[in-house]
Amino acid sequence: MTKPESEERARCKQCRRVLPPQTTGRPRQFCSQACRQWHWVHQQRAGDLQLAENELIVAKDELDALHDELYVLACAVNDAEKDLHAVGAQPRAAELRSIVDWLLEAARPLRDRELQRP
Ligand SMILES: [Zn+2]
Repeated sequence: MTKPESEERARCKQCRRVLPPQTTGRPRQFCSQACRQWHWVHQQRAGDLQLAENELIVAKDELDALHDELYVLACAVNDAEKDLHAVGAQPRAAELRSIVDWLLEAARPLRDRELQRP
């Protein structure tokens, strides 16, 4: 189920990164000037290919890489849940630190990823 537009966080129209909250001025549509320019290029190309606004062509390798990173994160979440259960109600700081480090290591590639440029 999709959320109503007003509940969704604003995202870059090109790379779909969440944009920082904004209280004044015209709402930002892009995270960077590069994304603004790529969006224009892609709009021209989408017109040529008769793509609808919500359709996107993604390289198979890029989608595979994203799924691989999501799989790694999902495994790390499973590990963290098991580890949290194993340490019990009074975990030591070092145990929690180890669990958080493992999760962060799995999540960083997703945070740092960039969509491939054509
Ligand atoms: Zn962007």
